[in-house]
Amino acid sequence: MNSDNLPDTTGHDAPKEFCGVCGVYGVENVGATLYQGLFALQHRGQEGAGIATGDGRSVHSVRGLGLVSEVFQGNDWSRLPGHLGIGHVRYSTTGSSRIQNVQPLVVECVDGLWAVAHNGNLVNAGRLRKMYQEAGAIFQTSTDSEVLVHLLADPMYRMRPRRVCRALAELDGSFCFLLMTRNCMMAARDRYGFRPLSIGRLGNGYAVASETCALEQIGATFVRDVEPGELVVFDETGMHSSFFAEPPARGAASCIFEMIYFARPDSCVFGQNVHGVRVQYGRQLAQEHPIEADVVVAVPDSGNSAALGYSLESGIPLEFGFIRNHYVGRTFIMPQQKDRVSSVDLKLAVLPVSLRGKRVVVVDDSIVRGNTARRRVQRLREAGAKEVHVRISCPPIKHPCFYGIDFPTSSELIAGDMNVAEVCRFIEADSLGYLSLEGLFLPFGGAGRFCCACFNGDYPTDISGVTGSKVALETNPELKLDL
Ligand code: SF4
Repeated sequence: MNSDNLPDTTGHDAPKEFCGVCGVYGVENVGATLYQGLFALQHRGQEGAGIATGDGRSVHSVRGLGLVSEVFQGNDWSRLPGHLGIGHVRYSTTGSSRIQNVQPLVVECVDGLWAVAHNGNLVNAGRLRKMYQEAGAIFQTSTDSEVLVHLLADPMYRMRPRRVCRALAELDGSFCFLLMTRNCMMAARDRYGFRPLSIGRLGNGYAVASETCALEQIGATFVRDVEPGELVVFDETGMHSSFFAEPPARGAASCIFEMIYFARPDSCVFGQNVHGVRVQYGRQLAQEHPIEADVVVAVPDSGNSAALGYSLESGIPLEFGFIRNHYVGRTFIMPQQKDRVSSVDLKLAVLPVSLRGKRVVVVDDSIVRGNTARRRVQRLREAGAKEVHVRISCPPIKHPCFYGIDFPTSSELIAGDMNVAEVCRFIEADSLGYLSLEGLFLPFGGAGRFCCACFNGDYPTDISGVTGSKVALETNPELKLDL
């Protein structure tokens, strides 16, 4: 994805991704299996990775900052024994990049060790955290995920039936949680169904993952998605389902950005193949914003499928206009604007032979701040393009996300205060066309079960008092200490 100036895993700037989770129950070689699953989910987070396993007696864990291959360098799986486990890849949407925040979190409750892995963003974490801190609780991390641990340990929940369901019911916002004790794994999805979570069968055991590409990678067969509001428990008696929350009155609110950008094209999320949906977006874009041109080029990688769709629908041949450098590092360590702009040139090379003297349609998945899009247009012209027409396979992003996608504030979003003509002028394109909101939901027969708040500001949950800052739960260093 090429959304501006927010780096990503695919070698260009993007809305930052949140996290990915993977779990298995009743399998051999748990550590190696989860390693493969996390490897397939690496695009969902590159700041840190971890695995916790259970052997019926205890919980074992390995966590670290960096890519999956870096954290598990040496592949010493004897450190992760057992027949069940959960794993996590992290991009921080709350909490800074430090080892304490890397998941799975492993905590010792009065009834033993628990491990927790979370994908999403809890909009009421600040209130719950303050409540527990004022009652004397100590938090080890600055992530929103840790509030679930405190709920689980709270006698109000611990001493009563359906403890996990009761605790989950207190949470608001987006979450897919994998929980684990020494002999049991659990998978839960918030009642809106913001993030995807799929169940697979793996030999005589089970697997759960944020995306089906991870199930495929470890050799599991897709069974079904975890339903919104559902808790699925895997133990020695099999797989058991219960519900901790009613569906919201307005219906589910799955994140449409999974389709636009985040999920891998070979995954099926929310019941649809991602590549197939993106090709449809490209076709629809060609119908909504036709133009006379000589070539269609994609901004790789997440623009590839939509560019193919635009080419198929328009009859304009698809060409390679950009070549991605796969070896550019994790550029989120370059937060300054000048660094971000220069990273565009590092990540993508242009192919003048495909562009010289041509009228070019360039298809990208989104525009966030606008600087990266502008630089790309400049580079196409420098390579000899006669005209550059930009086509975006989603509507203008005008509002921040509070559910786990690290979009900037409205004032930093270029479409937050500019109309399409103004954005077109800013990025110096000959024309600019965004996919309409209606077009975005055509493959699903309507917007009914999706969140599209970043496009229209219609948030599915109460967001009053939510700051959106990912360090909102960090301790204020100015705070006066009474000793
Ligand atoms: S606001 Fe946008 S990015 Fe956030 S959950 Fe909703 S659709 Fe996804």
